[in-house]
This record gives sequence, structure tokens and C-alpha cells, in this order.
Amino acid sequence: MNRPPAARATDAIHAGQAPDSLSGAIVPPLTLASTFVMDTPGVPRSGYDYSRSGNPTRSALETALVTLEAGGAAFAFPSGLSAEDTLLRVLTRPGDTVLFGRDVYGGTFRLLTAVLAGEGRTPVATDVFDLAALERDLARTRPVVLWLETPSNPLLEIADLDRIASLAHAAGALLVVDNTFASPALQQPLALGADVVVHSTTKLIGGHSDMVGGALVTRPGLPLPRDRSGVGGSSDVADSIAYLRNATGAVPGPFDAWLAARGLKTLHVRAERAAASAGRIAEHFRGHPAVRRVHYPGLPDHPGHDVARRQMRGFGTVVSLTLRDADAARRACERTRLFALAVSLGAVESLVEHPASMTHAAKEGSPDAIAPELVRFSVGLEDVDDLVDDIEQALA
Ligand SMILES: *Cc1c(COP(=O)(O)O)cnc(C)c1O
Repeated sequence: MNRPPAARATDAIHAGQAPDSLSGAIVPPLTLASTFVMDTPGVPRSGYDYSRSGNPTRSALETALVTLEAGGAAFAFPSGLSAEDTLLRVLTRPGDTVLFGRDVYGGTFRLLTAVLAGEGRTPVATDVFDLAALERDLARTRPVVLWLETPSNPLLEIADLDRIASLAHAAGALLVVDNTFASPALQQPLALGADVVVHSTTKLIGGHSDMVGGALVTRPGLPLPRDRSGVGGSSDVADSIAYLRNATGAVPGPFDAWLAARGLKTLHVRAERAAASAGRIAEHFRGHPAVRRVHYPGLPDHPGHDVARRQMRGFGTVVSLTLRDADAARRACERTRLFALAVSLGAVESLVEHPASMTHAAKEGSPDAIAPELVRFSVGLEDVDDLVDDIEQALA
């Protein structure tokens, strides 16, 4: 079997992070300046004139991200959702349909259905884990964009990126993949056929629960769909994102960009260790008397296991458990001592949450509601034996 594509650890440490040419500082400096002096009107000394339009600390992060995702251009944003908002405004116009996986992040669902729908876009949910149903929905709705996440949240289902990219392209749609749950250390969607990758850098990339940020990475030379030209007049997706981000001012502060770049340097060791611990936890609780089902793509009987082996290096850092009933699930969340009860994921600290009443509460009563018996664990970097013991005592 071929090794699935993934970012290189060497790039995570060195891409965009060359020592400062002036002082030799091994860590590129944090440039807080809002403006940059010129010698001649209108001629910046080294490409920077004003920090909304461009900032060296932000550029360093973007160089790292574009290398790690093997893309053509990368753009940092102040949050994952502001990255999504900018991308959807660049790719779609009033009258367009956006087809999205029905278990996308709750904030993505809200942006599509409560904000962009009110501005003339038509969001339609589909099942990206059933390729026949997906193909029918692509043919029926003729979307400009197909948007999905894999592994999915909180059930950790796996979408086959290679096959879905072919289906989307055959139907004239661009494929956007939110790669937040895997990170480029475990999965490179552009190498598998996706057109744009979205990140909440708040999660695995930042990795330390100390910043909020987002990013977009585009396939090299990607044109706007349907021979259109975008805001700013270009027909190129990356140019249009750059134009809109500058025009609307959706830029991260330099310190957040610096923290994300710092997080990237340890991304591989963090993601690999947390995924190994998640695998141990999944194995341990399989067949446990208090657990009805373990959701983790690393388990050989998981329906997406073979696809995950083909497209990911490691199976991710999140494990979900279906317990006996809703009370047991809520109690387990209250009784863990190491796993902190909090939303978010991908950090050094392990977290636990109850999707039905927290991250996925907005779906209550809908066909896509998350069962109240489910508990989601984001596995961090503590000793795995301590994590197993913590869940054991919470279930006892
Ligand atoms: C957190 C998250 C987002 C939103 O990112 P923010 O940084 O919170 O705006 C989008 N997608 C996924 C999968 C997420 O987990």
C-alpha cells in the first residue's frame, strides 16, 4: 500500500521560519508594527506598507501553512469561521447552491443556514459517507461548492476524499475540505483532490488552547468556478481571497499568527502522540461493560477504517464513546478529573464534552441530532495510562 500523503515535520519547523537576517535570531521576530516606513512615496522597502495588507509574522505563518498543505497560496484569518466566511463569499454568489456534509461543524452550519442563506445562497445538506446518495444530490442540486469534514465530528466517520473529489469535479463543483480534525500532519486533502483546505488553527495547529485563528489553503492556480471573475476582477481564487480579506479587514493579529507558527513546530509529535493515545483508549474501552460503542477510525471494524488507512497517517486525536444512556454520558463528563469539561479539541490538555448538550445542541430535534448517550474525548499529551484510568473511574 502507498504511504498516504502528509506534511513533513522538517517543513513544520523550517518553512517560513528562517533565522532573522538582521540579528540572527533563530526565531523570526514578532512584528507588531501597524505601518512600515518608505524612502520614496508608494515604494515599500520590502513589500510591506500596512499590517492589514501584509505583515511579516503573518507571512511566515502562511509560508509554513502553504508548504504543509502542499498548496498554491495560504491565508491566515482571525478565526476558522472568518476564514470560512471569506471563502464562501469568494466562491459563491446569490443564487448558488452549497452542498455540505450534514455533520459539519455547528458554526459552519449556522454560517451557511442563518447568514449566507439570508444573502441568497442555498445551503443543502447531504450524506458524504454514502457515495450513491452524494452523487444523486450533486446531480440534483448542481452546487458550486461541496463542503465536508473528515474525520467527522463527533462520530468520526471517514469520507473518501479521492472518490468524492472525482464526483464533485464531474458535477462541476469545487471540493472544500475542513482539515481541522486531522491537521496536515495526518492528512493532506489537496494531495487527494480537494480544491481548498480550511482550518481552525485554534485546534491542533495552535495546539495549546491559547489562541483563536483560522486559515485557507488553495490548490495552485485554482480558477473561480464557472468562468467567473471575482471581487477585485481576478478569475483566480487565491487573488480573490487576498483582495476580499484586505477589503474586509479579516486579518489575525501578529501575536496570534506567531503563536500558530510556534504551535506548528511541534504539530507532528503532538498529533502522532495524541493519535497513538487515542488508539490505545479506543482499544481499551472496546467491550467495556459501560460502553455500548467506541467510535474511532483506527479500529479495524470501523466502517471507514480502510479509507482512513489509505488517506491518513494515523487516525486522529478524538475518540467518542456511546454509553448506556444519557444520564451515564452526562455523569461521565462531570466525573473526569484529567479530561476537562470544555468545548474545543486538539490541545495538549485532554478535554471531554457532551455533544448533544454542548457543541451540537443546535441540532436537537432535527434528523441529524446527536444521541445524548455520546461522549466526545479530545486526547491530549498526558500519560496515556492516566487518561485510561481517568475515563475508567468516570465510568465506574
Ligand atoms: C472550531 C472549528 C471551526 C471553527 O473555528 P473557530 O476558530 O472556532 O472559528 C471550524 N471547523 C471545525 C471542524 C472546528 O472544530
